[in-house]
Amino acid sequence: MLELKKITKSYTVGKLKQSALECISLNFRKNEFVSVLGPSGSGKTTLLNIIGGLDKYTTGDLIINGKSTKKFKDKDWDSYRNTSIGFIFQNYNLIDHISVYENVEMALTLTGVKKNVRKHEVMKALKKVGLEKHADKKPNQLSGGQMQRVAIARALVNNPKIILADEPTGALDSKTSVKIMKLIKEISNDKLVIMVTHNDCLAKKYSSRIIKLKDGKIIEDTNPVINAQYNEIYKINKTKMSFKSALQLSLNNIKTKKGRTILTAFASSIGIIGIALILSISNGFNKKIEEYEKNTMSSFPISINNTVLKQKNDDLLNTEINYSNEDKLYSYDDKENKEIHINNISKDYIDYLKKINNKYLSAISYYRITDINLITSNGKEYKTVNKSFINLSELPQDKNDKSFLKDNYDLLSGSYPKKETDVVLIVDTKNKIDKSLMDVLFIDEKKEKVDFKEVVGKEFKLISNNDYYFKVNDNLFIRNKPSQELYEKSGITLKITGIVRAKKDNVLASIINMEDGDTKSKIGYSNKLVEKIILDNKESDIVKVQENSNGVVFMGGLNFDEAGITKSEALSMLGKNDIPVSINIYPNSFDSKEKIIKYLNNYNKNKENKDKIIYTDYAKEISELSSNIISGITFILVAFSSVSLIVSSIMIGIITYISVLERTKEIGILRSLGARKKDILRVFNAETLIIGLLSGSLGILITRLILFPINSLLYKLTDLKNIGILNIGHALILILISVTLTLIGGFIPSKKASLKNPVEALRSE
Ligand code: ADP
Ligand code: MG
Repeated sequence: MLELKKITKSYTVGKLKQSALECISLNFRKNEFVSVLGPSGSGKTTLLNIIGGLDKYTTGDLIINGKSTKKFKDKDWDSYRNTSIGFIFQNYNLIDHISVYENVEMALTLTGVKKNVRKHEVMKALKKVGLEKHADKKPNQLSGGQMQRVAIARALVNNPKIILADEPTGALDSKTSVKIMKLIKEISNDKLVIMVTHNDCLAKKYSSRIIKLKDGKIIEDTNPVINAQYNEIYKINKTKMSFKSALQLSLNNIKTKKGRTILTAFASSIGIIGIALILSISNGFNKKIEEYEKNTMSSFPISINNTVLKQKNDDLLNTEINYSNEDKLYSYDDKENKEIHINNISKDYIDYLKKINNKYLSAISYYRITDINLITSNGKEYKTVNKSFINLSELPQDKNDKSFLKDNYDLLSGSYPKKETDVVLIVDTKNKIDKSLMDVLFIDEKKEKVDFKEVVGKEFKLISNNDYYFKVNDNLFIRNKPSQELYEKSGITLKITGIVRAKKDNVLASIINMEDGDTKSKIGYSNKLVEKIILDNKESDIVKVQENSNGVVFMGGLNFDEAGITKSEALSMLGKNDIPVSINIYPNSFDSKEKIIKYLNNYNKNKENKDKIIYTDYAKEISELSSNIISGITFILVAFSSVSLIVSSIMIGIITYISVLERTKEIGILRSLGARKKDILRVFNAETLIIGLLSGSLGILITRLILFPINSLLYKLTDLKNIGILNIGHALILILISVTLTLIGGFIPSKKASLKNPVEALRSE
């Protein structure tokens, strides 16, 4: 069954080569109780360790069921130990921080046996040694004899063929010794038991064969094997500890030193806390800056007007600023150098603008000079609404053309417009309503206060050019008097659905309110409405006549100079075309503005000067304020905290190293049970993983808590609410970093642990 062929073992200590075993040849039967006797230092333990595959022979061969072990690899030895060998040691070698049950279970866990099978086998083994009632105790709650029985149960649980016992009664009193010997004797009925002992009497009384060693040589064998027979073929089963078991083992170990673990986790979480705090605060500041940007950007639109005053020889595309570096002044004539540039805002250009990526825009507003012909009535009287008296205003379009009002204005009464014919009354902060508007709405002008109800629901009739204007001759049109007939002829009713007011601190809305030069109340309507009116009117009679006339036909035939408008303006007023005279683009951030400007510049590329569209960038100076400042500061602070993170991961390395030192014996025990080097690495990696996870989570938790006082402090200092916000993404990344760093920090000591020689590991206390 087991054969040692000329085995020698020598140790090199310094330069000295010391021989522990010399040319040992032995043969063992399948079932027998062999006692190995000999004085201390004669090589008994060495022999046992070699048989058990815990130590490697120097020369010779160990033959297991006819199979030479000369070519055995580490994993073969591991599985041999795990499946064929059960070790019993003088000092029991139990793992202190797990229960009796778990100690016995360990060998099975390493083989990957299923949980319910494990339970059955463990209880069977414990019953055999009479300890089934003590399964849940920790080893240190047992007596020496009981502990040795646990060790015996552990050796038996895998049902190995060979039990190796190194002075199993060496630490026990004689009465207990006898009990243990009886147990071992019983085991030897169907197993090969090789027991090292000092005790001649016990050896003689219980064993069936005695081998005596002296100075590494056999000096006596009472029952040598004459005819060796191999009736079984040795099979190699792979052992593999699951990561779950490794985690469980480490978790149990960590539980036995809670205080230290928490302190470690806390100390190493400081780096994480630092970074998390910096990230959250810069996060918050960035958000505030974004808000601020959005507001400022809104207040400084990029403007495109149909005429612009520009420097004569300016390169239209060159937006760079060049400083003169001469100590001289340059003479310059302002009048001579300025010229008017006509921006030929075409349909193409409008379409080009409509393709601006929505994500860069707060809003875009078109200003068209189209007249809107409106009549109001109270049922008896009829009034014309004159655009030059009543403030009618085209509302800016926001990115999706819908939420602009909702985003920027509070609804005071009624509802936001839903249809293109719905209009709103926009009031200023003082809720002022213009008397001229009151007049056309038939509200008593003497009233000091007007109920919202009096305005909401009021209607206007939209009159087409053909109905509105009466042709006198080819140069003159006059407006028809507002009348019931005209009123009823109209097919389109505009309705005031609500009263809105710019949201508090909403710069965009307030600026748009002021665009027309005053902040008085006005009626806001949609772009769609204007487009519809233009569609209806562009083919009207008055437009056709105006096209061929040298005067303004609706202004008593005054010629253009006298009227102070151009022909194209006159046509625009009548709804001939829908090209705006000015466009304001409101970017939502500095970055967006750059993008939009780039986009606008692209339009001018490869175009002749006269065809270029020049915009005016009101925010040019402000945009020079770099939003990179915060990012820069954040970067530096994060770099600083990273140092503390690295320090803490070095600390984890040290802690793991200490843990390795502390658990050296456990490493030896696990190896003796058949754990692979990889499994040992796993156990320690699991431990660092737990610590990393703990310190990461602790760091995040503490950060969340610290943010409360920090936020209230910042609120007091800056008047900004909730600056520190830790976003979940950052939190998860930081935990991941913490885990990674601790794993790296713990890897070297873990690796070292896994490489430990099992025999030496077992010998350490
Ligand atoms: P026993 O168990 O019979 O008391 P051992 O097998 O432990 O004896 O030791 C046999 C001899 O080998 C002793 O001289 C011991 O000093 C030596 N020896 C054992 N292990 C080592 C080792 N790791 N390094 C050096 N010498 C060793
Ligand atoms: Mg010994």
